[in-house]
Amino acid sequence: MKRKQRRRLSVKSKLFFYLAAFAALILVLLWLFQISFLDTFYKAIKTGEIHKIASQVKALADDGDRKSLLDEISAKKEISIRLLTIDENLNAKTAYATSQMRSKALGWLLGGSLQQYYQKAEEGGGQFIEKFSEDSLLQAMPPDGNLQGQIPPGLRQMPESLLYGELFTGENGTQYFLLLDSQITPVDATVSTLRTQLVWITLIMLACSIVLALLISRKISRPIIKINQSAKQLAAGNYDIRFESGGYKEIAELSDTLDFAAHELSKVEGLRRELIANISHDLRTPLTMITAYSEVMRDLPGENTPENVQVIIDEARRLTTLVNDLLDISKIQSGTQELCPAEYNLTESIHRILTRYAKLMENDGYHIRFESGQEVFVEADESKLSQVIYNLINNAVTYTGTDRCVTIRQTVSGSTVRIEVTDTGEGIPAEELPYIWDRYYKVDKTHKRARVGTGLGLSIVKSVLELHGAAYGVNSTVGSGSTFWFEIPCK
Ligand code: ADP
Repeated sequence: MKRKQRRRLSVKSKLFFYLAAFAALILVLLWLFQISFLDTFYKAIKTGEIHKIASQVKALADDGDRKSLLDEISAKKEISIRLLTIDENLNAKTAYATSQMRSKALGWLLGGSLQQYYQKAEEGGGQFIEKFSEDSLLQAMPPDGNLQGQIPPGLRQMPESLLYGELFTGENGTQYFLLLDSQITPVDATVSTLRTQLVWITLIMLACSIVLALLISRKISRPIIKINQSAKQLAAGNYDIRFESGGYKEIAELSDTLDFAAHELSKVEGLRRELIANISHDLRTPLTMITAYSEVMRDLPGENTPENVQVIIDEARRLTTLVNDLLDISKIQSGTQELCPAEYNLTESIHRILTRYAKLMENDGYHIRFESGQEVFVEADESKLSQVIYNLINNAVTYTGTDRCVTIRQTVSGSTVRIEVTDTGEGIPAEELPYIWDRYYKVDKTHKRARVGTGLGLSIVKSVLELHGAAYGVNSTVGSGSTFWFEIPCK
Protein backbone atom coordinates (compact mmCIF):
# COMPACT_ATOMS: atom_id res chain seq x y z
CA MET A 1 0.00 0.00 0.00
CA LYS A 2 2.72 2.39 1.03
CA ARG A 3 4.83 1.54 -1.96
CA LYS A 4 1.87 2.30 -4.25
CA GLN A 5 1.40 5.70 -2.64
CA ARG A 6 5.04 6.54 -3.13
CA ARG A 7 4.95 5.70 -6.81
CA ARG A 8 1.98 7.99 -7.49
CA LEU A 9 2.47 11.64 -8.27
CA SER A 10 0.76 14.31 -6.20
CA VAL A 11 -1.87 16.59 -7.72
CA LYS A 12 0.69 19.39 -7.60
CA SER A 13 3.33 17.54 -9.65
CA LYS A 14 0.74 16.26 -12.12
CA LEU A 15 -0.76 19.70 -12.64
CA PHE A 16 2.68 21.20 -13.07
CA PHE A 17 3.54 18.47 -15.53
CA TYR A 18 0.39 19.06 -17.61
CA LEU A 19 0.68 22.85 -17.51
CA ALA A 20 4.36 22.72 -18.43
CA ALA A 21 3.57 20.30 -21.27
CA PHE A 22 0.84 22.66 -22.50
CA ALA A 23 3.18 25.65 -22.32
CA ALA A 24 5.88 23.65 -24.12
CA LEU A 25 3.46 22.77 -26.90
CA ILE A 26 2.54 26.42 -27.40
CA LEU A 27 6.20 27.40 -27.37
CA VAL A 28 7.18 24.72 -29.89
CA LEU A 29 4.40 25.94 -32.19
CA LEU A 30 5.60 29.53 -31.75
CA TRP A 31 9.20 28.53 -32.50
CA LEU A 32 8.17 26.60 -35.57
CA PHE A 33 5.89 29.26 -37.01
CA GLN A 34 7.80 32.36 -36.00
CA ILE A 35 11.35 31.21 -36.43
CA SER A 36 11.85 28.06 -38.46
CA PHE A 37 9.13 28.64 -41.04
CA LEU A 38 8.94 32.43 -41.01
CA ASP A 39 11.13 32.74 -44.07
CA THR A 40 9.20 30.06 -45.96
CA PHE A 41 5.83 31.60 -45.07
CA TYR A 42 7.00 35.06 -46.02
CA LYS A 43 8.30 33.90 -49.38
CA ALA A 44 5.15 31.90 -50.12
CA ILE A 45 3.05 35.00 -49.45
CA LYS A 46 5.36 37.14 -51.56
CA THR A 47 5.25 34.65 -54.47
CA GLY A 48 1.47 34.64 -54.39
CA GLU A 49 1.49 38.43 -54.49
CA ILE A 50 3.88 38.49 -57.48
CA HIS A 51 1.65 36.10 -59.43
CA LYS A 52 -1.32 38.36 -58.78
CA ILE A 53 0.55 41.45 -59.97
CA ALA A 54 1.81 39.57 -63.04
CA SER A 55 -1.73 38.81 -64.14
CA GLN A 56 -2.72 42.46 -63.61
CA VAL A 57 0.23 43.62 -65.72
CA LYS A 58 -0.58 41.07 -68.44
CA ALA A 59 -4.10 42.43 -68.69
CA LEU A 60 -2.72 45.94 -69.25
CA ALA A 61 0.05 44.99 -71.69
CA ASP A 62 -1.85 46.09 -74.81
CA ASP A 63 -3.55 49.06 -73.18
CA GLY A 64 -2.73 52.49 -74.63
CA ASP A 65 -2.67 53.99 -71.10
CA ARG A 66 -0.48 51.25 -69.72
CA LYS A 67 2.34 53.55 -68.68
CA SER A 68 0.35 55.50 -66.14
CA LEU A 69 -1.52 52.39 -64.97
CA LEU A 70 1.65 50.32 -64.56
CA ASP A 71 3.37 53.23 -62.81
CA GLU A 72 0.51 53.24 -60.35
CA ILE A 73 0.76 49.46 -59.70
CA SER A 74 4.52 49.65 -59.35
CA ALA A 75 4.32 52.49 -56.84
CA LYS A 76 1.48 50.98 -54.86
CA LYS A 77 2.97 47.46 -54.64
CA GLU A 78 6.58 48.60 -54.43
CA ILE A 79 7.59 46.39 -57.28
CA SER A 80 9.83 47.00 -60.33
CA ILE A 81 8.23 46.15 -63.62
CA ARG A 82 10.00 45.73 -66.93
CA LEU A 83 7.97 44.74 -69.98
CA LEU A 84 9.85 43.80 -73.16
CA THR A 85 8.54 43.05 -76.61
CA ILE A 86 10.27 40.29 -78.50
CA ASP A 87 10.21 40.29 -82.29
CA GLU A 88 10.53 37.26 -84.55
CA ASN A 89 14.33 37.59 -84.56
CA LEU A 90 14.25 37.43 -80.82
CA ASN A 91 15.30 41.04 -80.48
CA ALA A 92 14.08 42.56 -77.23
CA LYS A 93 12.84 46.09 -76.85
CA THR A 94 11.75 47.67 -73.61
CA ALA A 95 8.06 48.56 -73.91
CA TYR A 96 7.75 49.74 -70.34
CA ALA A 97 10.04 50.08 -67.34
CA THR A 98 9.47 51.61 -63.96
CA SER A 99 11.82 54.36 -63.05
CA GLN A 100 13.01 52.65 -59.87
CA MET A 101 16.62 51.76 -59.25
CA ARG A 102 15.87 48.08 -59.18
CA SER A 103 14.28 48.28 -62.56
CA LYS A 104 17.52 49.77 -63.74
CA ALA A 105 19.35 46.81 -62.28
CA LEU A 106 17.10 44.59 -64.31
CA GLY A 107 17.86 46.56 -67.43
CA TRP A 108 21.53 46.38 -66.68
CA LEU A 109 21.33 42.64 -65.98
CA LEU A 110 19.38 41.97 -69.11
CA GLY A 111 21.82 43.96 -71.17
CA GLY A 112 24.31 41.19 -70.48
CA SER A 113 22.20 38.08 -70.22
CA LEU A 114 18.69 38.47 -71.56
CA GLN A 115 19.17 35.30 -73.55
CA GLN A 116 19.87 33.35 -70.43
CA TYR A 117 16.68 34.54 -68.64
CA TYR A 118 14.58 34.12 -71.75
CA GLN A 119 15.70 30.48 -71.93
CA LYS A 120 14.95 30.01 -68.22
CA ALA A 121 11.39 31.16 -68.83
CA GLU A 122 10.99 28.92 -71.86
CA GLU A 123 12.29 25.91 -69.94
CA GLY A 124 9.97 26.65 -67.06
CA GLY A 125 6.90 26.45 -69.31
CA GLY A 126 6.74 30.21 -69.90
CA GLN A 127 7.74 31.49 -66.47
CA PHE A 128 10.35 31.35 -63.72
CA ILE A 129 10.79 32.73 -60.27
CA GLU A 130 14.04 32.90 -58.37
CA LYS A 131 16.03 34.84 -55.80
CA PHE A 132 17.80 37.87 -57.15
CA SER A 133 20.80 39.50 -55.49
CA GLU A 134 24.12 41.05 -56.25
CA ASP A 135 25.49 37.52 -56.75
CA SER A 136 22.94 36.91 -59.48
CA LEU A 137 24.24 39.99 -61.27
CA LEU A 138 27.78 38.65 -61.14
CA GLN A 139 26.82 35.15 -62.16
CA ALA A 140 24.66 36.43 -65.00
CA MET A 141 27.70 38.06 -66.60
CA PRO A 142 29.26 36.11 -69.41
CA PRO A 143 32.66 34.99 -68.06
CA ASP A 144 34.45 37.10 -70.60
CA GLY A 145 31.87 39.87 -70.53
CA ASN A 146 33.34 43.31 -70.40
CA LEU A 147 30.84 44.23 -67.64
CA GLN A 148 32.40 41.74 -65.17
CA GLY A 149 33.27 43.45 -61.94
CA GLN A 150 31.86 46.72 -63.13
CA ILE A 151 28.53 46.74 -61.45
CA PRO A 152 27.50 50.38 -61.04
CA PRO A 153 27.83 51.56 -57.44
CA GLY A 154 24.07 52.14 -57.08
CA LEU A 155 23.40 48.46 -57.71
CA ARG A 156 25.99 47.12 -55.31
CA GLN A 157 24.85 45.57 -52.08
CA MET A 158 21.25 45.72 -53.06
CA PRO A 159 18.96 43.77 -50.80
CA GLU A 160 17.77 40.38 -51.86
CA SER A 161 14.63 40.19 -54.00
CA LEU A 162 12.43 37.80 -55.93
CA LEU A 163 12.72 37.89 -59.69
CA TYR A 164 9.76 36.73 -61.72
CA GLY A 165 9.77 36.30 -65.46
CA GLU A 166 6.94 35.32 -67.82
CA LEU A 167 6.61 34.97 -71.57
CA PHE A 168 3.17 35.74 -72.97
CA THR A 169 1.40 36.83 -76.13
CA GLY A 170 -0.71 39.99 -76.08
CA GLU A 171 -4.20 40.27 -77.55
CA ASN A 172 -2.83 41.78 -80.75
CA GLY A 173 -0.28 38.96 -81.14
CA THR A 174 2.75 40.78 -79.74
CA GLN A 175 5.22 38.55 -77.84
CA TYR A 176 6.03 39.97 -74.45
CA PHE A 177 8.62 39.13 -71.84
CA LEU A 178 7.59 40.43 -68.44
CA LEU A 179 10.03 40.79 -65.55
CA LEU A 180 8.96 41.67 -62.04
CA ASP A 181 11.33 42.32 -59.19
CA SER A 182 10.01 42.51 -55.65
CA GLN A 183 12.29 43.32 -52.77
CA ILE A 184 12.33 40.90 -49.83
CA THR A 185 12.69 42.33 -46.40
CA PRO A 186 15.36 40.27 -44.65
CA VAL A 187 13.74 38.24 -41.86
CA ASP A 188 16.98 37.40 -40.05
CA ALA A 189 16.80 40.46 -37.84
CA THR A 190 13.16 39.75 -37.02
CA VAL A 191 14.01 36.12 -36.26
CA SER A 192 16.72 37.03 -33.80
CA THR A 193 14.39 39.51 -32.04
CA LEU A 194 11.71 36.87 -31.84
CA ARG A 195 14.19 34.30 -30.57
CA THR A 196 15.22 36.52 -27.68
CA GLN A 197 11.58 37.24 -26.94
CA LEU A 198 10.74 33.55 -27.01
CA VAL A 199 13.49 32.70 -24.53
CA TRP A 200 11.90 35.20 -22.17
CA ILE A 201 8.42 33.94 -22.89
CA THR A 202 9.62 30.37 -22.19
CA LEU A 203 11.01 31.38 -18.81
CA ILE A 204 7.89 33.37 -17.91
CA MET A 205 5.62 30.50 -19.00
CA LEU A 206 7.58 28.01 -16.86
CA ALA A 207 7.34 30.28 -13.85
CA CYS A 208 3.61 30.78 -14.49
CA SER A 209 3.13 26.99 -14.78
CA ILE A 210 4.73 26.47 -11.39
CA VAL A 211 2.69 29.21 -9.72
CA LEU A 212 -0.55 28.07 -11.37
CA ALA A 213 0.14 24.42 -10.49
CA LEU A 214 0.72 25.42 -6.87
CA LEU A 215 -2.41 27.55 -6.68
CA ILE A 216 -4.71 25.11 -8.46
CA SER A 217 -3.37 22.07 -6.64
CA ARG A 218 -3.81 23.78 -3.31
CA LYS A 219 -7.42 24.57 -4.25
CA ILE A 220 -8.01 21.00 -5.39
CA SER A 221 -6.06 19.05 -2.84
CA ARG A 222 -6.93 20.90 0.35
CA PRO A 223 -10.54 19.64 0.53
CA ILE A 224 -9.36 16.16 -0.55
CA ILE A 225 -6.83 16.07 2.27
CA LYS A 226 -9.56 17.06 4.72
CA ILE A 227 -11.91 14.37 3.42
CA ASN A 228 -9.09 11.84 3.62
CA GLN A 229 -8.52 12.70 7.28
CA SER A 230 -12.22 12.27 8.05
CA ALA A 231 -12.33 9.01 6.03
CA LYS A 232 -9.46 7.64 8.13
CA GLN A 233 -11.48 8.34 11.26
CA LEU A 234 -14.47 6.65 9.67
CA ALA A 235 -12.32 3.61 8.89
CA ALA A 236 -11.24 3.57 12.54
CA GLY A 237 -14.89 3.19 13.54
CA ASN A 238 -15.93 6.76 14.28
CA TYR A 239 -19.29 6.74 12.49
CA ASP A 240 -20.32 10.15 13.85
CA ILE A 241 -17.71 11.89 11.74
CA ARG A 242 -19.05 14.55 9.35
CA PHE A 243 -17.39 15.32 6.02
CA GLU A 244 -16.93 18.99 5.21
CA SER A 245 -18.48 19.84 1.88
CA GLY A 246 -16.32 22.74 0.77
CA GLY A 247 -14.32 23.50 -2.33
CA TYR A 248 -16.12 22.58 -5.51
CA LYS A 249 -19.05 20.57 -6.81
CA GLU A 250 -17.35 17.17 -7.10
CA ILE A 251 -15.90 17.43 -3.60
CA ALA A 252 -19.26 18.54 -2.21
CA GLU A 253 -20.89 15.52 -3.86
CA LEU A 254 -18.16 13.20 -2.56
CA SER A 255 -18.50 14.47 0.99
CA ASP A 256 -22.30 14.15 0.81
CA THR A 257 -21.91 10.56 -0.40
CA LEU A 258 -19.42 9.82 2.38
CA ASP A 259 -21.73 11.45 4.94
CA PHE A 260 -24.52 9.22 3.70
CA ALA A 261 -22.22 6.16 3.80
CA ALA A 262 -21.14 7.03 7.36
CA HIS A 263 -24.78 7.40 8.37
CA GLU A 264 -25.69 4.06 6.79
CA LEU A 265 -22.68 2.39 8.38
CA SER A 266 -23.64 3.71 11.80
CA LYS A 267 -27.18 2.40 11.23
CA VAL A 268 -25.91 -1.03 10.18
CA GLU A 269 -23.50 -1.04 13.09
CA GLY A 270 -26.35 -0.27 15.50
CA LEU A 271 -28.54 -2.93 13.95
CA ARG A 272 -25.69 -5.44 14.05
CA ARG A 273 -25.13 -4.87 17.73
CA GLU A 274 -28.84 -5.17 18.40
CA LEU A 275 -29.06 -8.33 16.31
CA ILE A 276 -26.18 -9.95 18.16
CA ALA A 277 -27.85 -9.05 21.46
CA ASN A 278 -31.20 -10.38 20.27
CA ILE A 279 -29.90 -13.52 18.61
CA SER A 280 -27.67 -14.44 21.52
CA HIS A 281 -30.63 -13.97 23.80
CA ASP A 282 -32.88 -15.96 21.48
CA LEU A 283 -30.31 -18.74 21.22
CA ARG A 284 -29.46 -18.81 24.87
CA THR A 285 -33.03 -19.11 26.18
CA PRO A 286 -34.02 -22.25 24.23
CA LEU A 287 -30.58 -23.76 24.81
CA THR A 288 -30.89 -23.17 28.57
CA MET A 289 -34.35 -24.71 28.55
CA ILE A 290 -33.19 -27.74 26.53
CA THR A 291 -30.21 -28.29 28.83
CA ALA A 292 -32.28 -27.83 32.00
CA TYR A 293 -35.09 -30.14 30.91
CA SER A 294 -32.67 -32.80 29.64
CA GLU A 295 -30.72 -32.76 32.92
CA VAL A 296 -33.90 -33.03 34.98
CA MET A 297 -35.05 -35.95 32.83
CA ARG A 298 -31.65 -37.65 33.14
CA ASP A 299 -31.45 -37.21 36.94
CA LEU A 300 -35.07 -37.76 37.90
CA PRO A 301 -36.60 -40.77 36.17
CA GLY A 302 -40.11 -39.59 37.12
CA GLU A 303 -39.68 -36.39 35.07
CA ASN A 304 -39.26 -38.27 31.82
CA THR A 305 -42.75 -37.26 30.67
CA PRO A 306 -44.06 -36.53 27.15
CA GLU A 307 -44.79 -32.88 28.23
CA ASN A 308 -41.15 -32.32 29.15
CA VAL A 309 -39.98 -33.92 25.92
CA GLN A 310 -42.41 -31.62 24.05
CA VAL A 311 -40.79 -28.57 25.70
CA ILE A 312 -37.41 -29.73 24.41
CA ILE A 313 -38.86 -30.33 20.93
CA ASP A 314 -40.54 -26.86 20.89
CA GLU A 315 -37.42 -25.09 21.95
CA ALA A 316 -35.37 -26.99 19.38
CA ARG A 317 -37.93 -25.94 16.74
CA ARG A 318 -37.65 -22.33 17.83
CA LEU A 319 -33.91 -22.59 17.29
CA THR A 320 -34.45 -24.14 13.88
CA THR A 321 -36.78 -21.30 12.84
CA LEU A 322 -34.26 -18.71 13.93
CA VAL A 323 -31.41 -20.36 12.07
CA ASN A 324 -33.60 -20.90 8.97
CA ASP A 325 -34.62 -17.25 8.95
CA LEU A 326 -30.99 -16.21 9.09
CA LEU A 327 -30.07 -18.62 6.31
CA ASP A 328 -32.99 -17.54 4.12
CA ILE A 329 -32.25 -13.87 4.40
CA SER A 330 -28.58 -14.33 3.67
CA LYS A 331 -29.37 -16.54 0.67
CA ILE A 332 -31.98 -14.17 -0.75
CA GLN A 333 -29.85 -11.12 -0.25
CA SER A 334 -26.68 -12.61 -1.65
CA GLY A 335 -28.65 -13.42 -4.79
CA THR A 336 -27.96 -17.19 -4.67
CA GLN A 337 -31.64 -18.00 -4.17
CA GLU A 338 -33.52 -18.44 -7.43
CA LEU A 339 -37.25 -18.57 -7.98
CA CYS A 340 -38.99 -21.73 -9.21
CA PRO A 341 -42.31 -20.33 -10.41
CA ALA A 342 -45.18 -22.70 -11.18
CA GLU A 343 -48.93 -22.31 -11.42
CA TYR A 344 -50.74 -23.26 -8.19
CA ASN A 345 -53.94 -22.64 -6.26
CA LEU A 346 -53.16 -19.71 -3.94
CA THR A 347 -56.48 -19.89 -2.08
CA GLU A 348 -56.00 -23.55 -1.26
CA SER A 349 -52.41 -22.91 -0.24
CA ILE A 350 -53.51 -20.23 2.27
CA HIS A 351 -56.12 -22.64 3.67
CA ARG A 352 -53.32 -25.21 4.16
CA ILE A 353 -51.13 -22.64 5.94
CA LEU A 354 -54.00 -21.80 8.28
CA THR A 355 -54.36 -25.41 9.41
CA ARG A 356 -51.03 -24.92 11.21
CA TYR A 357 -52.73 -22.31 13.38
CA ALA A 358 -55.63 -24.59 14.34
CA LYS A 359 -54.01 -25.49 17.66
CA LEU A 360 -53.31 -21.85 18.41
CA MET A 361 -56.95 -20.96 17.76
CA GLU A 362 -58.19 -23.84 19.83
CA ASN A 363 -55.85 -23.43 22.83
CA ASP A 364 -55.21 -19.68 23.01
CA GLY A 365 -58.50 -18.32 21.73
CA TYR A 366 -57.19 -16.69 18.51
CA HIS A 367 -59.75 -15.87 15.80
CA ILE A 368 -58.04 -16.24 12.46
CA ARG A 369 -60.48 -15.61 9.61
CA PHE A 370 -59.88 -16.09 5.90
CA GLU A 371 -62.21 -14.18 3.56
CA SER A 372 -61.34 -15.96 0.38
CA GLY A 373 -64.10 -15.64 -2.24
CA GLN A 374 -63.37 -17.54 -5.46
CA GLU A 375 -60.36 -19.81 -5.88
CA VAL A 376 -57.39 -18.06 -7.43
CA PHE A 377 -54.46 -19.50 -9.40
CA VAL A 378 -51.13 -17.72 -9.58
CA GLU A 379 -47.79 -18.31 -11.27
CA ALA A 380 -45.27 -18.06 -8.43
CA ASP A 381 -42.78 -19.91 -6.26
CA GLU A 382 -45.21 -21.61 -3.87
CA SER A 383 -42.84 -22.34 -1.02
CA LYS A 384 -41.48 -18.79 -0.96
CA LEU A 385 -44.85 -17.09 -1.28
CA SER A 386 -46.16 -19.38 1.49
CA GLN A 387 -43.32 -18.17 3.65
CA VAL A 388 -44.37 -14.56 2.96
CA ILE A 389 -47.95 -15.30 4.00
CA TYR A 390 -46.75 -17.30 6.99
CA ASN A 391 -44.49 -14.43 8.14
CA LEU A 392 -47.31 -11.89 7.75
CA ILE A 393 -49.78 -14.05 9.68
CA ASN A 394 -47.16 -14.76 12.36
CA ASN A 395 -46.56 -11.04 12.84
CA ALA A 396 -50.31 -10.36 12.93
CA VAL A 397 -50.78 -13.08 15.55
CA THR A 398 -47.86 -11.72 17.57
CA TYR A 399 -48.89 -8.08 17.46
CA THR A 400 -52.70 -8.30 17.36
CA GLY A 401 -54.83 -6.75 20.08
CA THR A 402 -56.53 -8.30 23.10
CA ASP A 403 -59.46 -9.52 20.96
CA ARG A 404 -56.90 -11.82 19.28
CA CYS A 405 -58.48 -11.29 15.87
CA VAL A 406 -56.55 -11.68 12.63
CA THR A 407 -58.21 -11.39 9.22
CA ILE A 408 -56.79 -12.60 5.93
CA ARG A 409 -58.58 -11.18 2.90
CA GLN A 410 -58.23 -12.22 -0.74
CA THR A 411 -59.70 -9.88 -3.37
CA VAL A 412 -59.43 -10.09 -7.12
CA SER A 413 -59.58 -7.05 -9.39
CA GLY A 414 -59.04 -7.68 -13.08
CA SER A 415 -56.05 -9.97 -13.40
CA THR A 416 -54.54 -9.10 -10.02
CA VAL A 417 -55.08 -10.78 -6.70
CA ARG A 418 -54.55 -8.82 -3.49
CA ILE A 419 -53.85 -10.56 -0.19
CA GLU A 420 -54.31 -8.53 3.01
CA VAL A 421 -53.43 -9.60 6.55
CA THR A 422 -55.10 -7.38 9.13
CA ASP A 423 -54.65 -7.33 12.90
CA THR A 424 -56.24 -5.23 15.64
CA GLY A 425 -53.03 -4.43 17.50
CA GLU A 426 -51.30 -1.21 18.45
CA GLY A 427 -50.35 -0.37 14.87
CA ILE A 428 -47.05 1.07 13.76
CA PRO A 429 -46.19 4.80 14.08
CA ALA A 430 -45.97 6.46 10.65
CA GLU A 431 -42.34 7.48 11.19
CA GLU A 432 -41.37 3.81 11.74
CA LEU A 433 -43.15 2.53 8.62
CA PRO A 434 -40.29 3.04 6.13
CA TYR A 435 -37.90 1.06 8.34
CA ILE A 436 -39.87 -2.03 9.27
CA TRP A 437 -38.81 -3.74 6.04
CA ASP A 438 -35.14 -3.30 6.94
CA ARG A 439 -33.13 -6.21 8.22
CA TYR A 440 -33.04 -6.59 12.03
CA TYR A 441 -35.44 -3.70 12.52
CA LYS A 442 -37.79 -3.82 15.46
CA VAL A 443 -40.22 -1.09 16.45
CA ASP A 444 -40.33 -2.26 20.02
CA LYS A 445 -36.70 -2.27 21.07
CA THR A 446 -37.31 -3.85 24.47
CA HIS A 447 -36.82 -7.52 23.98
CA LYS A 448 -39.83 -9.55 25.07
CA ARG A 449 -39.80 -13.26 24.83
CA ALA A 450 -43.55 -13.29 24.26
CA ARG A 451 -42.92 -11.31 21.10
CA VAL A 452 -39.93 -13.24 20.00
CA GLY A 453 -38.73 -12.24 16.58
CA THR A 454 -35.49 -11.93 14.75
CA GLY A 455 -36.37 -8.71 12.95
CA LEU A 456 -35.90 -10.65 9.73
CA GLY A 457 -39.49 -11.65 8.92
CA LEU A 458 -40.50 -8.55 6.94
CA SER A 459 -37.11 -8.32 5.31
CA ILE A 460 -37.67 -11.83 3.91
CA VAL A 461 -41.21 -10.79 2.83
CA LYS A 462 -39.82 -7.76 1.04
CA SER A 463 -37.05 -9.70 -0.73
CA VAL A 464 -39.36 -12.51 -1.91
CA LEU A 465 -42.05 -10.11 -3.13
CA GLU A 466 -39.47 -8.03 -4.98
CA LEU A 467 -38.10 -11.19 -6.60
CA HIS A 468 -41.67 -11.84 -7.84
CA GLY A 469 -42.05 -8.23 -9.00
CA ALA A 470 -45.08 -7.90 -6.74
CA ALA A 471 -46.45 -4.66 -5.26
CA TYR A 472 -46.59 -4.63 -1.44
CA GLY A 473 -47.12 -2.30 1.47
CA VAL A 474 -48.66 -1.64 4.83
CA ASN A 475 -51.47 0.59 6.07
CA SER A 476 -51.34 1.15 9.77
CA THR A 477 -53.17 3.33 12.27
CA VAL A 478 -51.72 3.63 15.75
CA GLY A 479 -54.23 2.21 18.19
CA SER A 480 -56.38 0.32 15.71
CA GLY A 481 -54.08 -2.12 13.93
CA SER A 482 -52.19 -2.75 10.73
CA THR A 483 -52.93 -4.23 7.33
CA PHE A 484 -50.02 -5.73 5.40
CA TRP A 485 -50.79 -6.40 1.74
CA PHE A 486 -49.31 -7.56 -1.53
CA GLU A 487 -50.59 -7.92 -5.09
CA ILE A 488 -49.55 -10.37 -7.80
CA PRO A 489 -51.00 -11.24 -11.20
CA CYS A 490 -53.44 -14.17 -11.24
CA LYS A 491 -54.80 -16.48 -13.99
P1 ADP B 1 -39.90 -9.56 13.93
O1 ADP B 1 -39.29 -10.90 13.80
O2 ADP B 1 -39.29 -8.72 14.99
O3 ADP B 1 -41.37 -9.58 13.94
P2 ADP B 1 -40.26 -8.44 11.34
O4 ADP B 1 -39.26 -8.11 10.27
O5 ADP B 1 -41.28 -9.42 10.98
O6 ADP B 1 -39.43 -8.84 12.61
O7 ADP B 1 -40.93 -7.08 11.74
C1 ADP B 1 -40.18 -5.94 12.00
C2 ADP B 1 -40.87 -5.07 13.00
O8 ADP B 1 -42.06 -4.52 12.43
C3 ADP B 1 -41.34 -5.81 14.20
O9 ADP B 1 -40.33 -5.86 15.19
C4 ADP B 1 -42.51 -5.00 14.67
O10 ADP B 1 -42.08 -3.96 15.51
C5 ADP B 1 -43.07 -4.41 13.42
N1 ADP B 1 -44.25 -5.16 12.97
C6 ADP B 1 -44.30 -6.15 12.05
N2 ADP B 1 -45.57 -6.59 11.86
C7 ADP B 1 -46.34 -5.86 12.66
C8 ADP B 1 -47.75 -5.84 12.98
N3 ADP B 1 -48.61 -6.66 12.37
N4 ADP B 1 -48.18 -4.93 13.89
C9 ADP B 1 -47.34 -4.12 14.51
N5 ADP B 1 -46.00 -4.08 14.30
C10 ADP B 1 -45.50 -4.94 13.40
